[in-house]
Amino acid sequence: MNLGRYVRRTAEHHPDAEAVVCGHVRLTYAELDDHSDRLAAALTGLGLSRGERVATLAANRAELVVTEVALYKAGLTRAPVNARLGDGEVAHLLRESDARVLLTDAAHLDTARRAVPGSGVKAVIGYDGPADLGPGYQELLAATPREAVDVECAEDDIAVLHFTSGSTGKLKAAVQTYGNRLALLRKSVMNQATRVGTGDRQILAGPVTHASGMPLMGIFFAGGCAVVLPRWDAAEFLATVERERATHAFLVPTMVNTVLALENARDHDLSSLRHLLYGAAPMSPARVRAAWDLFGPVLSQGYGCGETTSGVLFLSTEDHRRAVEGDDEELLLSCGRPLAEAEVRIVDDGGEPVADGEIGEIAVRGPDVVPGYHNEPELTARSFRDGWFLTGDLARRRRDGYVFIVDRKKDMIISGGFNIYAVEVESVLHQHPDVFEAAVVGVPDEQWGEAVKAVVVPRAGVTLDATELIAFCAEHLARMKKPRSVDVVAALPHNPNGKIDRRAIRDTYWSGAERR
Ligand code: AMP
Repeated sequence: MNLGRYVRRTAEHHPDAEAVVCGHVRLTYAELDDHSDRLAAALTGLGLSRGERVATLAANRAELVVTEVALYKAGLTRAPVNARLGDGEVAHLLRESDARVLLTDAAHLDTARRAVPGSGVKAVIGYDGPADLGPGYQELLAATPREAVDVECAEDDIAVLHFTSGSTGKLKAAVQTYGNRLALLRKSVMNQATRVGTGDRQILAGPVTHASGMPLMGIFFAGGCAVVLPRWDAAEFLATVERERATHAFLVPTMVNTVLALENARDHDLSSLRHLLYGAAPMSPARVRAAWDLFGPVLSQGYGCGETTSGVLFLSTEDHRRAVEGDDEELLLSCGRPLAEAEVRIVDDGGEPVADGEIGEIAVRGPDVVPGYHNEPELTARSFRDGWFLTGDLARRRRDGYVFIVDRKKDMIISGGFNIYAVEVESVLHQHPDVFEAAVVGVPDEQWGEAVKAVVVPRAGVTLDATELIAFCAEHLARMKKPRSVDVVAALPHNPNGKIDRRAIRDTYWSGAERR
């Protein structure tokens, strides 16, 4: 097998169709195929062979997409480094991934200068031109004769060392094989809402080297166009939908929130949009309703993680319609049913399935589940049992198969012996008209062990009254679940993928105190 072949085949059928748009760069399939051939040949020319690692460190740009395709063609392993990590973390990732080549942009050259010494990187390619560290990307492509590189790979070859965002603790890499990536491709084209075919254009809004880039190979297989945003900007997103006549988009809930907060969102013509997929973090029912109101009947939701190579649960547009306009309001709290080839179970601590309606941990098995973590045998043994990946997410399943996440195991608050799920409290806070964004964490409390604390960002220009907010929660929640205190802040920390970083928030309240 070789994943790059799909790009070559689409380029033969539709050479002049647009494949990638990012900022002012537009690449046709013929160009994507040509550039990725040359880069693959250049990397091979640097002495890299099947299975060796190549790291990328750059903000979204078309060349990152070309790089992904080139690495598939050459049978290499991609180690994307998130562009917002600090120098120390970058150095750690370069060493851990055993990268031989690094591709980076001008903004990260200083970081590269500090992180490369001590790693195994022997060449640095500059997307923005040659530098003291190595050749420029354009220059390298121009100097390399085109050659149809097509290295035969095995399904268990490593395609990507997917370092997870760190929202769950220390940085670790899920080993995504070529077989996993092929399963992802099958999944993308099987599902109506994620099939981006000829003439379709999908906006990818987050870092394209991470979760937001998951749809790429599905798009290239089916002949659609990936419209990559150079950076997240809510107004620019709406302008891009209108200008590019985008048919599909993929956003994380935080992005949806910022779009909903815009005053002039309704001034844009969003009529081209047929599918808006959101996911990767919980979104409160109040926000889903508001998004339905703004975008129309186009929403669907995906649930998944790095270890499952993207979505394994899916809440369709039809499900949303039943929730928003029909008689199944509870579905607004669900992240759907198993997608494509994934098997999903809710299990107890011993790994046995629990009865419908009971809370347990989500376990996933299937061709998209990775074989384990890179260089982490103990963590792998703990997290993968008999082919089932234990996600760390607590959920219950309704009789008809819909899964309802209640919280991450680690985010659950135990107060006075009761389990309190942060997500449930956050959902209520998001119903309050003055709340822009909220996170709920457990903080040390002598009497209760942990107490519920809400950390809240008010809407622009609004002064939040903490007492009133607590009273509002008390109206909608059992008494012990309401926040005991509220901190009003200007902004919440987000991890590089745009998710609220609850761990960072919690840590600020636990310095010196022991957490269970
Ligand atoms: P990561 O591996 O960093 O992408 O994080 C994966 C985690 O994000 C999952 O284990 C969930 O806790 C969370 N997550 C992903 N999708 C959803 C969703 N649709 N709803 C709620 N939480 C989600």
